[in-house]
Amino acid sequence: MLEKLDKVFDPEKVIEEFEYLTKDAKRIQTETLRRILKENGEAEYLKKWGLNGKTDPESYSCCVPLVTHKDLEPLIQQIADGAPNPILTSKPITTITLSSGTTQGKRKFVPFNDELTETTMQIYRTSFAFRNREYPIGNGKALSFIYGSKQFKTKGGLLAGTATTNVYRSEQFKKTMKDMQTPCCSPDEVIFGPDFQQSLYCHLLSGLIFHNEIQVISSTFAHSIVHSFRTFELVWEELCSDIKTGSLSTRITVPTIRTAMAKILKPNPELADKIHEKCLRLSNWYGLIEELFPNVKYIYGIMTGSMEPYLKKLRHYAGGIPLLSADYGSSEGWIGANVNPTRPPEMATFAVLPHIGYFEFIPLREIGVASQEHSVCNERRPVGLTDVEVGEEYEVVVTNFAGLYRYRLGDVVKVAGFHNATPELQFVCRRNLMPTINIDKNTEKDLQLSVEAAAKLLADEKLEVVDFTSQVDLSSEPGHYMIYWEVSGEASEETLKKCCNCLDSAFVDAGYVSSRKIHAIGPLELRVLKRGTFQKILDHYVGLGSTLNQFKTPRCVGPVNHTVLQILCNNVVKSYISTAFD
Ligand code: AMP
Repeated sequence: MLEKLDKVFDPEKVIEEFEYLTKDAKRIQTETLRRILKENGEAEYLKKWGLNGKTDPESYSCCVPLVTHKDLEPLIQQIADGAPNPILTSKPITTITLSSGTTQGKRKFVPFNDELTETTMQIYRTSFAFRNREYPIGNGKALSFIYGSKQFKTKGGLLAGTATTNVYRSEQFKKTMKDMQTPCCSPDEVIFGPDFQQSLYCHLLSGLIFHNEIQVISSTFAHSIVHSFRTFELVWEELCSDIKTGSLSTRITVPTIRTAMAKILKPNPELADKIHEKCLRLSNWYGLIEELFPNVKYIYGIMTGSMEPYLKKLRHYAGGIPLLSADYGSSEGWIGANVNPTRPPEMATFAVLPHIGYFEFIPLREIGVASQEHSVCNERRPVGLTDVEVGEEYEVVVTNFAGLYRYRLGDVVKVAGFHNATPELQFVCRRNLMPTINIDKNTEKDLQLSVEAAAKLLADEKLEVVDFTSQVDLSSEPGHYMIYWEVSGEASEETLKKCCNCLDSAFVDAGYVSSRKIHAIGPLELRVLKRGTFQKILDHYVGLGSTLNQFKTPRCVGPVNHTVLQILCNNVVKSYISTAFD
């Protein structure tokens, strides 16, 4: 086991133990499965599948079926409603995690327990140990854009909140951040404040107050860092004025936040003038972060997958500060740590920790007969952690200590290599995010690449895509893709027309291209949105109780996501139809 939290934190020791565990990954996986099944032998769910005390991987995969969240939903609901019997775990579940629901539009309930907090800390500490070898930090603070969303009680009296909230509220989190010499510079009242706009403003203010001590700028997902500095562009003069006078802006109305900030905010006209001067000197805010925080060593957060589109902007703000991509996990539990911190974020991989769960992988390379019209896809049997092949793509299947057994996470990963005997995974995309119109199989990644290609055309006009999403419109025949863009300024008609054609022709999926050629899929539509539309979408999700920490712009909005569709439709200012396949 990795060292326990109550011991003194020694990064080299953490690495040593990680090496030991990953060298013996196969045995550790078998042992982890044995522990999970033994600990939960009394759970009705496991009893139902007739394991009869068997804990070996073969019996497990023979007896227990693969499931999705939908299959488990009624059971998790019973737990949330306070059922007294052991349903998924032997020990009662006392906390429920709410997934962000931002990828697919629906929030999910997931069981949570202390084991998951513990594994989260192990992931944090492992990647920190490797990071610290390359980018050592001294004693200091972190400007962490983190938020504790509201927690509430379920019908059965269980505490429910987002995974990040459950973690940030834990004592272990504080201890780990202290061990890593990066305690958060903002007061707790800011992190756990009831209004995220006010918290965000105070995070920025706290960062500026402690600017010399800030060693790391971080958030769970990189979107939040970009969003914070976009906000900085709007409120910087107000922040300077607060620092100059030592009195907090009237926009902060939450009494607990005001009291907490009053303790750290003192008049400092010199600092205010310095910040003011720096901001005026910057060209289009390039290098803002390194200007404001002279001792920052790196910027840290998840930058892969749906976060990649924000990297360009983040690099712009960062100037020369390195960007380090964080680990891979979900509300259902963590999976892997980034142990190669020097790789550029686009190349980040995640070494699976073999003792934090039992992992299986469904190979996604198709087998079976591929005919002209239909490619017959027979899903293949999952393989074990150490049996995956380099270069292959898989869907991740998780068995954890909190009652998920052979649970399909819905993420697609690619095996980039191995660290000892454990695979290093590259995140590819969510599975089945884009619905099919004809025989097309576009993925979230294809969409991202197409947007990237078309956005290059905006660069000539010094404009950028602030954010994007898509919709598949089947209301008329043939169906077609609609891509929504928020652009940083007014682009010319000519350029937007070109962007629209480029979006359409940049999709490389053979099914899409051939369907477009024979007009079985209609011309792609580019819809340009009013500035601020994605802020409205974010506000909508936060209003539903989601947290900014875990926010991911939904890349394809489904037909049942009425509110988001409504926001999009109400804010379209221009629309273009592709002529790429005319
Ligand atoms: P949630 O539990 O709703 O906050 O979202 C978890 C999901 O975020 C995962 O299933 C992935 O799809 C995505 N995710 C988590 N970590 C990463 C990562 N390092 N790179 C890309 N996507 C990630």
